[in-house]
This record gives sequence, C-alpha cells and structure tokens, in this order.
Amino acid sequence: MLRVHPVSLALILITIVFTQCEKKVPYEITENSVSEVLKTLSSDDMRGRQAFSEDIKRAADYISNEFTAAELDYLPGEDSYLQSFNLNVISIANADIQIDGTQLGSDKYFGSIYSDQLSWTPGSVETATISATDNFRAKQRELSSSDSDLIVFVDEAHSSTFTALHRYYSRPVRAISIEGKANVLFVLHNESDNFSFEITTKNDSIELANVAGVIEGKRAHEIVLFSAHYDHIGIRNAVEGDSIANGANDDASGVTAVIELAKHFQGKPKPQRTIMFVAFTAEEVGGYGSQYFSKQLDPDEIVAMFNIEMIGKPAVSGPNTAWITGYDRSSFGEILTESTPDSVFRFYADPYPSQNLFYRSDNATLARLGVPAHSISTTPIDVDQDYHKVSDEFETIDIPHMTNTIKAIANAADEIVGGYKTPTRVDAALVD
Ligand SMILES: [Zn+2]
Repeated sequence: MLRVHPVSLALILITIVFTQCEKKVPYEITENSVSEVLKTLSSDDMRGRQAFSEDIKRAADYISNEFTAAELDYLPGEDSYLQSFNLNVISIANADIQIDGTQLGSDKYFGSIYSDQLSWTPGSVETATISATDNFRAKQRELSSSDSDLIVFVDEAHSSTFTALHRYYSRPVRAISIEGKANVLFVLHNESDNFSFEITTKNDSIELANVAGVIEGKRAHEIVLFSAHYDHIGIRNAVEGDSIANGANDDASGVTAVIELAKHFQGKPKPQRTIMFVAFTAEEVGGYGSQYFSKQLDPDEIVAMFNIEMIGKPAVSGPNTAWITGYDRSSFGEILTESTPDSVFRFYADPYPSQNLFYRSDNATLARLGVPAHSISTTPIDVDQDYHKVSDEFETIDIPHMTNTIKAIANAADEIVGGYKTPTRVDAALVD
C-alpha cells in the first residue's frame, strides 16, 4: 500500500479546497445589466459611433472595459482587445489624360486606381469598350473586376448614365490590401489608339479596430463566434434639434448581447469549444472589420457564427421570437429551432427574404468562406420608423424582450458550444 506523507496529504487537501474556490460563479443576464450596457453604447456621448471618426474610439474603449470585466483572453497574437488594422483610402491627386490630342476633363473619367503613379500609353495597357448598344451597367460591373490594368472607352451614347454615376464612382477607393489590385479607369470618349494617361494618387490610410476576446475551449481549434457591429452612422441632419444617430437598435443591441454572452459563458465551466466574442468596426461603410477578421484565422475552424443584428424591438410575429437570415443555407437555424422545444421562445426563418438581409451584415463575409454564419434579428424592419434615423434611441428599445432574446441565444448556443451539435457548412459557391 502506498504511504502518503502527512505534508503531501495536506497539500492535496489544500489543492482540492483551492479548486473548489475557483469554481465559476454563474452570471445572470438581467434587464438591469442589459439596460446599462445598451444605454452607455447608445448615449449621445458616443455620437453615433461612426467608423473613421474619433467618436468610435470611446465605444471601443467601453467594450474593451466590458471584456476586461468578463475576463476574456486576447485573441492570439494581440496585446489588447483591439484588433487594429489599416484601411487604404486612395484618391486621384493629379490626372493628365490626353486622348486624340485633347485633354479629358475630370467629369469624363472615373474608376478604381490603387497605384501611387501610372503612365499609360498605347501598348502599355489593355483597353476595352462599352459600345452604344451594350448594357452599360452590366458591362461596367464585369469590366470593374478585371484582373489587369484596363482603360474602358465608353461610347458617348451613354453620356447621361455616365454623368449620373460619376459622383459615386469618383469617390476615393477603399481597400484593406492593395496588393495585386488592378487599376481600371472608365473614360467617356469613343475608342482611340492615340492617348497618354499620367495619374498620381494619394493614400489617406485610416486605422480601424475590431474589439475581440476569447474563452479557450478544450477543443481549442473549434471556434464558436458571437458577433455584432459596434459602428453606426454618426451625425446626420438634425430632426427637431437632434442630429445624433444613436444606433440603439442598430447595433448597440447586438453588441450588448455579445458582452452579456461573454459574461454568461465565462460564468460556466471551461467550454468544449473555443468561444470568440467580436464587436466589428466599419460594417455600415463596407464591412471592413469582418473582412479583416476573416483573414486572421482559418475560417474552417469556425464551427458557427452567431451574428446579432437589431434585437431591441419585438418581431412582427410577437415577442419571444427571433429570426435567422439564410435559414436554409446550413443546419444552424434548424439546430436553434430544435433547441427550444420546451421554451416559450421560438427561432424561425427570416420573414423578409426579398430584403436580402443575409447579405446585409457581417455574417455574409464569413459565409462566403463556407462558415455557417447567420444573423439573428428581431427587428420589424418593414415597418420600423427608426432604422438609420436619429430616432434610433435607447427609449425605443424593449428591454424585457431584448433580455429574453439574449437568454434564448445563450440557451440555444449551448449544444453547439458544448460540442454536441455542429451546423452543416454553407456552400460558399452559392453565396454571391
Ligand atoms: Zn446593423
């Protein structure tokens, strides 16, 4: 028989007592906690959390503090909760374009130029045409995605469409990475082989940041992602003296859910699967936060993405229901629906298929990589008077409904986080 030294025995007992003390304290998602986070994120002090503004940094700091309180770990390779990156914002600084010996005015060209400097002469660059009989928009879309530098001569028969689109397409181009990007310029001029293009650009690179934290699971490389975007649309034209688009529903409600879910899962024993909590930046201006995030890890390791978008108002089908975009694209929705047989809460398919909501949030970026990535929402978007308005205020939010929705998501996620269920992958080839 093994003899245990009394000192060793004492150590074993101390270890047992210690382990008991470390037992996680369950976190309760309450109307008070939900209300407090939502109120702060949608306060006038945040000035509408617009990406590219200084204001959004206050929101990022606040979310970081909440992640600290939730005792999340940083993402691998990061030394804070901020996952920072640069967005290139490139505009044409100077253009000297000569065709058939005449200088082309700046209202006669638009396109996407990424290079610092370009010198194009016949033979040095490919050319294409949009003829008088071509469908301008279709041909423009096709040629815009050219893999190599391209000048597109647009027949002057399209002059009115060209002029209508000019303002939009002569905005600066934005891209996280400009490596290997082709320069494509559309010029309103009949085809010519007598030209010279001298173009220089300037790059006003902007720093952006997602806010992200993690709870590592026993199966470290199987990741369940909870996300929402923390940016909104900032300052708008004043309505009755109010010019701050607070974005309480869109999407402070989703970020509040992510924070509450982080605290909820931290209050439970170590999960089977790794859980990531991410507040994305720049969703409203092009989805750059999720684009960057999706390239920092292997998307094949993401088992499911719960993207939470506007859960502050009850759905048309009533309180205690939430809908899921792209329901049929994976078994994610089915798993959630089946998770609540005894509960009063019900998950169902997005009731607004014609609104293309599957494509209108950050989930689509991950779905394009095959991830079962869906948005969960409750907003009555067809009748909502506050969507993208200065009236999207804390006071319009139904806190009991929102609290119930967060709790339902927490419960529904249990089987996926616990490794019992795994949604089927989205067929990336079917995602536009
Ligand atoms: Zn949104």
